[in-house]
Amino acid sequence: MTIYPNFLDIVKHEIYIRFALCSWRFFRSPDGSGEIARNENLDPTPEKQSQGAPMRICDIRTTIVSIPFREPETWAFGRRLGISNVIIEIETETGEIGIGEAVGYPSVRVVKEALNAMRPVILGRDAFDHEVIIHELTQVYGWHHFRHTGGCALGGIDMALWDLVGKATGLPLHRLFGGTFRTKIRYYWYVPNNELKLMVEVAQQGVAQGFDTVYVKLGTGFERDLEVARKLREAIGNGVKLRVDANEAWSDGTARELMRRMSQYNIEFFEQPLCFYDHDGAADLRTALGLAIGANQSAWDEADILEIIKKRAADVVLTDQHQLGSLSRFSRAGWLLATAGIPIVKHSFGDLGISTAAAMHIMATCPNFTKANQTHLTVLTDDVVEGGLPKFTNGCLALPHEPGLGVRIDRQRLQKYNRCYEEKGEFTSYGPGGHDLVKELEDSESVKSTTTQ
Ligand SMILES: [Mg+2]
Repeated sequence: MTIYPNFLDIVKHEIYIRFALCSWRFFRSPDGSGEIARNENLDPTPEKQSQGAPMRICDIRTTIVSIPFREPETWAFGRRLGISNVIIEIETETGEIGIGEAVGYPSVRVVKEALNAMRPVILGRDAFDHEVIIHELTQVYGWHHFRHTGGCALGGIDMALWDLVGKATGLPLHRLFGGTFRTKIRYYWYVPNNELKLMVEVAQQGVAQGFDTVYVKLGTGFERDLEVARKLREAIGNGVKLRVDANEAWSDGTARELMRRMSQYNIEFFEQPLCFYDHDGAADLRTALGLAIGANQSAWDEADILEIIKKRAADVVLTDQHQLGSLSRFSRAGWLLATAGIPIVKHSFGDLGISTAAAMHIMATCPNFTKANQTHLTVLTDDVVEGGLPKFTNGCLALPHEPGLGVRIDRQRLQKYNRCYEEKGEFTSYGPGGHDLVKELEDSESVKSTTTQ
């Protein structure tokens, strides 16, 4: 059961906010002059050198890959046929390589350009200074004002730097993040939007494989949303959780009526029912209906999460290292939410194996990752890491224990899916088909009934 902050907790959160604002102001203008503070440790002092040999970064390589889905993903904003992300390799002067993955939002080409813009700030720096580098890129070099796209790129840079640190110390990241609360990471089973008969079959496949939570995206029409929930609940029985995600598709009025009627199908929580700016609306909705709400797009960065806690606008917060821009921020969000008594769930833009592995180290080392997490690996045809797609056991993946992220790039797969990008282009999330799904399915059904008459 979710516990909300009492008065003392609220005071505590106010202190967090004031501390965060003071820290930000200090960084921007430590002497009150209005000048931007820059890192004074660009050239290592003797004192800094005595802390250990630096890992100087000499090269950053980026490769765009496109990997197809087994079936299209349809959501409120469109349809995509696969995932297009940027694979990052950061090399040091001594030849070590850290790997990372940046997600392609809003477009993989935009994220690659963001990575190119960050490149001069990173070259020549010590990988051990990863927190300083990420903070500088955010606060000094402008990504503070473009957090949504900046985070998608920064998240990839950050995990490659962490990979270097892990390899240099010979430790998996979960050791560096303070030890594990769990070594098996739980995920849900994703049922992509499709004809209802096929969705029922797919849902049952997941239950048969041992997944204890089924997830479906809604926002494809009032009556159809209700019918999808009814059919899936019938298909999976009462022992499996059913989670629905509207991806901001509903108005306040639609959400009130639809959630009230859908609650008979025992929904685990309603993810992002309203526009992501509307924290007050979400708070009103959960108070009025007494139903659990998840905040995903509305919990994009740390300031959003503080607002959600203060306004009691969600029962669950869903975010990740790409929304926030680093693994440390993801971890800190988890611990802050733990203080507020709110569970955190890993969100996936469409993570491949590198980003999945990176996040698992955080999901293992925060206490409140107690629910099934999001993954697209169950609907992909392949991956870029050695071994390809991982094997789920009862809906779980095993935490990697090799130094760093604990996964390696498969060169042949990297080349193959880079060629796929070159030939087929980007698998955009905003492709045609999302808003027209119901009409398309109706047309498809009418064609079938015509041809079988
Ligand atoms: Mg979501």
